[in-house]
Amino acid sequence: MDAVVLTHSHADHVVGLDELRMINRLMGRALPLYATAATLAEVTRRFDYAFRPVTPGFFRPALEPQVVEPGQVVPMAGFDVRLFAQDHKVMETLGLRIGGFGYSTDVVELPEEAFAALEGVHGWVVGCFQRKPHPVHAHVAKVIDWAQRIGAAQTVLTHMGPDLDWGWMQSALPAGIEPSFDGMIVEVP
Ligand SMILES: [Zn+2]
Ligand SMILES: [Zn+2]
Repeated sequence: MDAVVLTHSHADHVVGLDELRMINRLMGRALPLYATAATLAEVTRRFDYAFRPVTPGFFRPALEPQVVEPGQVVPMAGFDVRLFAQDHKVMETLGLRIGGFGYSTDVVELPEEAFAALEGVHGWVVGCFQRKPHPVHAHVAKVIDWAQRIGAAQTVLTHMGPDLDWGWMQSALPAGIEPSFDGMIVEVP
């Protein structure tokens, strides 16, 4: 692991931060953590100890905050990562474009800039919470519409709620759209 990007500060996206200490220990150094100023303000408040100078042993995570914002292309871990804003209703989240790969989770509406950033993407990972509409997450029908507009060869659903039964998804999702699973590898040109 070379870098960490936080899309936003919701608990389901940040409470695993303490587990990065083992990555630090294996690599013998701090990890850069990229996020917006708003997200960094929240995580530096909640995990203040993770941002202190490195001490031997890594008994806590060691992270170097890097402020980024939507619209930027940021070099991270040898890649040029294009960042774009997404509407999560209760806050803005960061979407990512890395070469032929796109990543969009925790989004209920995609602004036009997001569609522009995702144009021509080959593999797209997208948050899809349930079958019925949801106030802050995209639901299945919406994600299918987005996927058809974006036209990625492979669209992979993530952040699925308990309503999304695996067997149902296998039979109901159109070709080219599939649920993710732990350890999945998405290959892009
Ligand atoms: Zn979430
Ligand atoms: Zn969220």
